[in-house]
Amino acid sequence: MPRQTPTVGIVSLGCPKALVDSERILTKLRSEGYRISPDYAGADVVIVNTCGFLDSAKQESLEAIGEAMSENGRVIVTGCMGVEEARIRDAFPDVLSVTGPHQYEAVVSAVHAAVPPVHDPFVDLVPPEGLRLTPRHYAYLKISEGCNNRCSFCIIPSLRGDLVSRPINRVLLEAEKLVKAGVKELLVISQDTSAYGLDLKYAESDFRGRPVRTRFFELAKELGELGVWVRLHYVYPYPHVDEVIPLMADGKVLPYLDIPFQHASPPVLKAMRRPAHAERTLERIRRWRDICPDLAIRSTFIVGFPGETEDDFETLLDFIEEAGIDRVGCFRYEPVEGAKANDLPGSVPDEVKEERWAALMEAAQEVSAARLQAKIGREIDVIIDRVDGDGATGRSVWDAPEIDGGVFIPHEDDLAPGDIVRARVVKASEYDLEADLV
Ligand code: SF4
Repeated sequence: MPRQTPTVGIVSLGCPKALVDSERILTKLRSEGYRISPDYAGADVVIVNTCGFLDSAKQESLEAIGEAMSENGRVIVTGCMGVEEARIRDAFPDVLSVTGPHQYEAVVSAVHAAVPPVHDPFVDLVPPEGLRLTPRHYAYLKISEGCNNRCSFCIIPSLRGDLVSRPINRVLLEAEKLVKAGVKELLVISQDTSAYGLDLKYAESDFRGRPVRTRFFELAKELGELGVWVRLHYVYPYPHVDEVIPLMADGKVLPYLDIPFQHASPPVLKAMRRPAHAERTLERIRRWRDICPDLAIRSTFIVGFPGETEDDFETLLDFIEEAGIDRVGCFRYEPVEGAKANDLPGSVPDEVKEERWAALMEAAQEVSAARLQAKIGREIDVIIDRVDGDGATGRSVWDAPEIDGGVFIPHEDDLAPGDIVRARVVKASEYDLEADLV
């Protein structure tokens, strides 16, 4: 039986740049198995790539959208006139999506939402969930590329550019595919997860027939509906992060936040040009823990940043203790070629960096040990990562793979990676727990 092939029509208006955009969109869709229809009648959905250069071009674009609506009725609008979304929606409220120029990903994802691609296991080399390098039971979900911040020690924005968020429907479709393929834990990553969608002005996109905003809270909420563990990495403590804490308290999203604070002393944070450096972080963390007492916070810090005084360092140690930072990574400051921080005065000698690093790691270890001790006797969920003759090793909701501690369950060698089991904590060390199956 021949399979039914999803088919797309395109009307391309405007200049050669717009034509190149159309070619890119079609190339991507063709590579995914879509057929291109030469007429309206044969298309499942029609893309109108508009021009907005002159009033006459805008008029022509509106006419083209109108024709596609009446001839086909399922229309995705993109291109230069797409920046006037309100005008287009006033005239044609039923268009499926509207995006501006060069937003290939958004157009392709609107096509996916309107007519999903068909996966043919005999022809396609790549499985629907893509190729992954992680074990089968967890997967990283990249939601954006680049960063709008300009931290003085970092050159990522000059390497990768400003924030470019993936439209939320595209992220959610990928997450669904991963879950269908057996993933039990999704790890949300980016350079700045809480800024997600800012570049798209939090635009709505169509996901399973309903509009969803491309925004941090909506992302966490929708992922929380998939029935798997959802872990949020690289979150900065902007005020709107408060909104996701109730999702953690309700068990929709793991009670875990990976927040790379890097420091706690205001003058150092200012010199680092850290995002959210003016927020009252300690107060905020207390409020989060009132709502979700189980919240674990992971963070990384830099010691020996230019200008860091003994007082700054003491402030940092106090912060780690007072905030009860569960998991800590620490780096000794090193200049990176091209970073602005290289020009800052007050370089800290290597031996001082070393002392501060050791003192910080010791303080962090005490916090970690105390927080893990308090878990003894509790029943917890454990996701199993590996099993050998001695037993099973997994992680609690407070441990991300590769970077945090683990939970050892002795003698249980008939469990399998990806199993999520209930266990009672019987022992705790500085970074790890031991538990027995319940
Ligand atoms: S360190 Fe700062 S500039 Fe670099 S990626 Fe992170 S938030 Fe962006």
